[in-house]
Amino acid sequence: MTRTESRVWTHIDFTANGVQSGSANVPHSSDTSAYGVLPVPMICIRGGDGPTALLTAGTHGDEYEGQIALLELVQDLRRASDEGRIAGRILVLPSLNRPAVLAGRRNSPLDGGNLNRVFPGKADGSPTEMIADYVTSVLFPMSDLVIDLHSGGSSLQYLPIALARPGLDAQAKAAIRSLLDSFGAPTSVITKGSGGGANSTLYAAAEAAGIPALTTELGGGPTLTQPGLDIARRGLRQVLLDFGIVSGLETPSVPATRLMRTLGPGSSIFAPHDGLFVPLVHQGEVVEKDQLAGLLHRLDDPLADVTRLHFRAAGEVVWKRFPTLTSAGDALYGLMVPFTQ
Ligand SMILES: [Zn+2]
Repeated sequence: MTRTESRVWTHIDFTANGVQSGSANVPHSSDTSAYGVLPVPMICIRGGDGPTALLTAGTHGDEYEGQIALLELVQDLRRASDEGRIAGRILVLPSLNRPAVLAGRRNSPLDGGNLNRVFPGKADGSPTEMIADYVTSVLFPMSDLVIDLHSGGSSLQYLPIALARPGLDAQAKAAIRSLLDSFGAPTSVITKGSGGGANSTLYAAAEAAGIPALTTELGGGPTLTQPGLDIARRGLRQVLLDFGIVSGLETPSVPATRLMRTLGPGSSIFAPHDGLFVPLVHQGEVVEKDQLAGLLHRLDDPLADVTRLHFRAAGEVVWKRFPTLTSAGDALYGLMVPFTQ
């Protein structure tokens, strides 16, 4: 099956040396702009031959550590370019789902699109699907490594972690582990995304394309957390150093990352009814099976007994729900356990 060619276009010349700031222009025809585009900011920094790093954030608009870490990084990279310290190419898109970023929302207000649930995308789809397709069909073929920075956003609080898919063969597996080691988050989690986006995410599409990729969850709530920002700052620079793309960046040394794996949704806790959620356990705590996790107060029947929620498995809490107001089916807790293989 031949793929339809991407309709997204740019003035950036990916083969030119130096720093270029432009945009990936996504056609979007609206009442007020028949032939208009959505400009997704894109920076290309190239210093001769070498590997290409694709760095993205703002895939979800309400997750901030990655967006800020990339905005800071491009300033460092501009200096590095001026000083001739780049050997390769870095593509930076700090607000990949631009409409969602401008709205401060997870999903795009234009089409409701969740960019990390529509990969590999559609060339002639909605704006969100077109962005995904551009990443898959235009940016991936140029890339030797991919980092897509996420955080918990409006509905989750996360222990700050890096995540990666297992890899499709032994070589891919080794490349992914090496990328996780380089990035150096305190905790790295191997996951197939069964509790999240499974095969519809950016990093799953990178795995399918055979490109080593990692993603992150760097905090929670629609705000900035300092520990998460620090992990992203250091990790991005260390990866660029280790791949030989940039030299002369300062990075603090950190302990080796510890490798974990997520337990699937069958071990998560979901709200059995609407109510007000009282978490009794927090991210990073180690729990036993059947341990009391939290309470859910009913809004419709104030005299009813409060619902007591228990963990379905032993493990370490990797995320928990952030808002108090809860609807039936909302995800409240997720667990991880040490990775053994
Ligand atoms: Zn996200």
